[in-house]
Amino acid sequence: MDSVDIAVIGAGAAGLFAGIWAGRTNPGLSVVALDGAKRIGAKILISGGGRCNVTHFHVDEKAFAGSSPAAIRKILRRFDVDHTIAFFESRGVKLKRESTGKLFPISDSAQTVLEALLRAAESAGVSIRSSHRVFAVSSQNDHFLISGDWGSLAAKKVILATGGKSVPKTGSDGYGYKIASSLGHALTDKIMPALVPLTLPADHFLCKLSGISADVQIKVETGSGHVLKAFSNSLLCTHFGLSGPAVLDISRYYIDAALADPSTALRINWLPEKTTNELHEELQQLNRSTVLYWLRKQLPERLARSLCAQAGIPEDTPGYRLTREQRARLVQQITNMKLPVTGDRGFRFAEVTAGGVPLKELNLNTLESRICPGLYICGEICDVDGRIGGFNFQWSWASGFVGGRSAADSL
Ligand SMILES: Cc1cc2nc3c(=O)[nH]c(=O)nc-3n(C[C@H](O)[C@H](O)[C@H](O)COP(=O)(O)OP(=O)(O)OC[C@H]3O[C@@H](n4cnc5c(N)ncnc54)[C@H](O)[C@@H]3O)c2cc1C
Repeated sequence: MDSVDIAVIGAGAAGLFAGIWAGRTNPGLSVVALDGAKRIGAKILISGGGRCNVTHFHVDEKAFAGSSPAAIRKILRRFDVDHTIAFFESRGVKLKRESTGKLFPISDSAQTVLEALLRAAESAGVSIRSSHRVFAVSSQNDHFLISGDWGSLAAKKVILATGGKSVPKTGSDGYGYKIASSLGHALTDKIMPALVPLTLPADHFLCKLSGISADVQIKVETGSGHVLKAFSNSLLCTHFGLSGPAVLDISRYYIDAALADPSTALRINWLPEKTTNELHEELQQLNRSTVLYWLRKQLPERLARSLCAQAGIPEDTPGYRLTREQRARLVQQITNMKLPVTGDRGFRFAEVTAGGVPLKELNLNTLESRICPGLYICGEICDVDGRIGGFNFQWSWASGFVGGRSAADSL
């Protein structure tokens, strides 16, 4: 049977990075990365709309959820954004920062990022084996036995980097959770889609506004009105409901809260730059101008018309005719619209997975399992999920670095 020093299971962002740093840390070691997919890097290639949003100019633990912020910070600090920029630059991939703070390769092509990682893995001596899906890992006395329909392999150390369950056709179908459990790890109670579009009833007026986007504030509220989380960003109406960065960012908080308490509400403020008082004043000063004239100066016309209709106000109503009740209804629709969310688009459309292996089960200096010595766990399989904007890759780079280095250092 084949025998290696380190076997990385999963050659996605975190697994490739772990392999690279294991090889660089101790060039004498044999490092193998096993991946079930025929072609390595499918998720990297589809990331950032094919451009790969490699990281964000400012990354800290506040952009993440799941395990404790202190635990997440501890890993992020070991390999920060400057390290990421330097790593890719050293492999010939210069990154550029966009106005949103996101960093992309100047080529605007995810392919260059994947190629850089594959070349770096090759120069670090990592042997990548595609079409090597792992079915079982068992811990023997001083090594691990890894098997699949391709045969089996013995490894002194294992780095588990099988990702989450999002977009399973890329190869990340959640099987890694089974492997982690079989080695003694507990998983979080909930493993749910994150950065996922949300659905509305098919006849909801927003579904008919498909293609329209607006800069909104979106918030999750408990049944008693306590705000759990809020984001200000762009929202996109689609034929099934809601998407766009604001919705993707809030989705995991809404899903999590709604699972625990069905009275959880998702609310939208369509004009977050203005206070309700300002809106009331502007409406009171409209005189002969119509409500629609006022609203479409600030929002897309079809949305403006729909908001009038939702408030039950004929859109050609001149300001001086607006009753106090009509004004209150319109301001309520504009600033605090409750959305009857029916669900989410599921793992097929989720960019990441919330939940997984809790960081408290890992040694935070090394990412070695506290439960199964010799096993290292990194990437999205951990209970860490970030906002949209490059944060999830930064988690993969940082945790892959810590896991890979530590596994190599231990030999
Ligand atoms: C559409 C989309 C766009 C995204 N865009 C961005 C972005 O622009 N910026 C950003 O920061 N994040 C983005 N993300 C999230 C980011 O891609 C992930 O968080 C990151 O790739 C996770 O890396 P990972 O290595 O932990 O897991 P993955 O990248 O999921 O890799 C896991 C690997 O393990 C393999 N594997 C799984 N099970 C087994 C098994 N049993 N045996 C062998 N191999 C196995 C899989 O084939 C896969 O190659 C996006 C995600 C999606 C779906």
